[in-house]
Amino acid sequence: MQPNHRLTHHLLLILLGLMLLASLIHWGLRAQVQERVEQKLHDQSVTLLRQLNQQLQTDLKEIRSDLLYLTDQARQNGLAQPQPSAQAIARTGIAFKVFSRYKRRYDQVRFLDAEGMERVRVNANQGQPTIVPADQLQSKAHRYYFTETIGLPSGAIYTSPFDLNVEHGEVELPLKPMLRLASPVSDAQSNKRGIVILNYLGRHLLNDFLALTRDYPGRTYLLNSEGRYLLSPNKLQEWNFMFPDLPQVGFAQDHPLIWSQITQRGIASSRTAEGRFVHLRMRLPNSQSSLSSSYQNCEFVLILQIPEALLETQIDQEMARQYPLLGLFFLILGAVLIFLTFNREKRRLSELQIQHLNQEIADERDLFIGGPTVVIHWRNEFGWPIDYISSNVEPLLGYTAEEFQSGELSLSSIVAPSYLQQLIQENETAQTDSRSWFERKPYQLVSADGRRLWIQDTTSVIRDSAGHITHFYAYISDISPLKQAEEKLQRSHHYIQNVVDTIADPTLVINIDTYRLEIANSAARQTYCGGASIDAEMTCHRLSHKREVPCSGEHDPCPIELIRKTKAPARVIHKHFDSHGKVIYAEVSATPIFDDTGERVVQIIESHRDITHHVEMEQQLTQLAATDRLTQVFNRMKFDDELVEQIEWAKQQQSALGLIMFDIDHFKRINDNHGHDIGDRVLQEAVAVVQKRIRKSDMLARWGGEEFMIITPLADLAVVETVAEDLRKAIAQHQFPQVGRITASFGASMLHPDDDARALIKRVDQALYRSKREGRNRTTVSP
Ligand code: GH3
Ligand code: MG
Ligand code: MG
Repeated sequence: MQPNHRLTHHLLLILLGLMLLASLIHWGLRAQVQERVEQKLHDQSVTLLRQLNQQLQTDLKEIRSDLLYLTDQARQNGLAQPQPSAQAIARTGIAFKVFSRYKRRYDQVRFLDAEGMERVRVNANQGQPTIVPADQLQSKAHRYYFTETIGLPSGAIYTSPFDLNVEHGEVELPLKPMLRLASPVSDAQSNKRGIVILNYLGRHLLNDFLALTRDYPGRTYLLNSEGRYLLSPNKLQEWNFMFPDLPQVGFAQDHPLIWSQITQRGIASSRTAEGRFVHLRMRLPNSQSSLSSSYQNCEFVLILQIPEALLETQIDQEMARQYPLLGLFFLILGAVLIFLTFNREKRRLSELQIQHLNQEIADERDLFIGGPTVVIHWRNEFGWPIDYISSNVEPLLGYTAEEFQSGELSLSSIVAPSYLQQLIQENETAQTDSRSWFERKPYQLVSADGRRLWIQDTTSVIRDSAGHITHFYAYISDISPLKQAEEKLQRSHHYIQNVVDTIADPTLVINIDTYRLEIANSAARQTYCGGASIDAEMTCHRLSHKREVPCSGEHDPCPIELIRKTKAPARVIHKHFDSHGKVIYAEVSATPIFDDTGERVVQIIESHRDITHHVEMEQQLTQLAATDRLTQVFNRMKFDDELVEQIEWAKQQQSALGLIMFDIDHFKRINDNHGHDIGDRVLQEAVAVVQKRIRKSDMLARWGGEEFMIITPLADLAVVETVAEDLRKAIAQHQFPQVGRITASFGASMLHPDDDARALIKRVDQALYRSKREGRNRTTVSP
């Protein structure tokens, strides 16, 4: 796996692990939080339940003590006598009335005699208690509360079921929850003389319950011992057992599972599919345990339902408080893990690198030992003793490594004697120029069977603290085959050199890319360098043209260029310079030399035939052909050619061109008088007179016997006229030997745009003719 992939892989694993851990911790934490929240809510509920219990107990205890107090009042007022007096009854009535006014929570306070007849009755009458008159009192002999109470021992209390007041067979409206408590009144002999009965207004008790549960977030129920609703979040359910027409359903039917668990008294909690509940089955304070049956009537069941939604909300809130800390924890954990992973990966990579390096070193060593290079570690001491030599010395030299390492052989003993001095010299140089390694010039070692091997040697040096070389490390390999090939090559090079040296013409082998000379024969050296040797940087153009750039190709067409194009032999004529700067015309014959593929020209072989003599001869002949033999000025043939060329050039340049013609006057006479030879001399002399006076660019030519032409380029009419006049005067004033004075007649004209040579000559000729006709020794200009 690649390091990068590997790292990604590890990081992914860490991420996965962290996510798993996070969900585990989250799950665990939530369970813990849930437990805690549940416990808290449960504890709160239980506390409330205890308070409720306390409150109801207190309420009931107060009623009980009120009852016992009234019983005592009745007895003291004489109602325990067999026949209570009217005063006793009246006194009791007043006492009951006072009591009722202050207490305000009893609907009726009554005394019933042993026969069940009401003897004292105070009605609450909405805070204005009234003593009911004797004639309105009723017998209650057959009511359950009388029969139940009269049978009780003195001091015992009867408690009725908690229900609604019924008047004349109808439930009193508004609903009047009612609890009746009654206790017998006995005389000193424990004969029961009647009962005191309190009709307690149950609303007070219920209000106390409601006041305490007002802030409780869950549902709250107050049930009677049968599980019927006295108080319920659903008001419709309350007191339904009092109305036979309503559906007779209680908590026991609505929540049978919970109800089944509310069997014992005391606080307990239950959890079912319907939810979590805490409940309490409570009863009146137990004063007469033997009378348990009558107390059953006054059992209450208090139920608090812990709200699930609140539970969830509180859990969520609690969890939300944990998240930042949890996040921080994971952040730190993640960072630590990533740091550790990176570190581990880094360490692993460096270990791999080290392994790799070690492998490379081992490979390299094996390469040396397995390959042709022999490693020698030797001391810079007398005889060059060898500390270590790789075992592959044996196939090379025929000696074993042990023979060297045991001291039997040393390095100096196998170096060919003629190279010892070289090695010593090189060691000394290495010592002085403080290099850490150097390459030796090839030298020879002598093998066990006496063969001499050419050695290539790279040597590293080890110095002591003073900088003296103490050891050498040499990597040597046999280059004999290479040396042999080199020698062979040298021999063949030598041979070729000898062959080309026999060629009489300068002969060169030229690299076509660099223009450098690969071979130059002795004739080339002789001709171009005065016999000196030619350096390796010498190019063909520097050798023969004495210039640093290759031939331009216009006047000295470069044969290399030609061959590059045609790949065929080429022959050109060049103007070369010898070692003294003398011009040599050479016929250069160049032949391409191809590479192994036969496609690419790599060199050319060039030979230079000296044709200076021919060229000069040719030049002389050309000049001869154009010159008049007698006067040595251009002849008529050359004049004709030149005039045509000049006319062409002048027309092209739109420049002036003049033509002057002169003819010596009465020349026949000179011949006649002085002879033909003198005539010849006069012609030569006249030419000399004229030649002296014309410009270099003017051209003088002999046109006929004693007739001459002068072409004057770039001269206008005035100049031409002046020149002609000048020349006429000069001839006329010249003293010709033996002949004396002579004259000549001149004609001159300018080139017209539409002239050709013939037209121009004709005009000049006519001008000259006019000069003759008009008396000679004059100039006529025909513009
Ligand atoms: P004009 O004034 O009319 O020119 O009279 P001229 O005698 O000079 O004219 P003409 O043309 O009749 O004579 C020219 C003579 O020049 C004829 C010829 O013998 C002579 N002549 C021509 N060529 C040469 C030459 O090369 N050498 C000598 N000595 N005489 C020559
Ligand atoms: Mg003449
Ligand atoms: Mg003439």
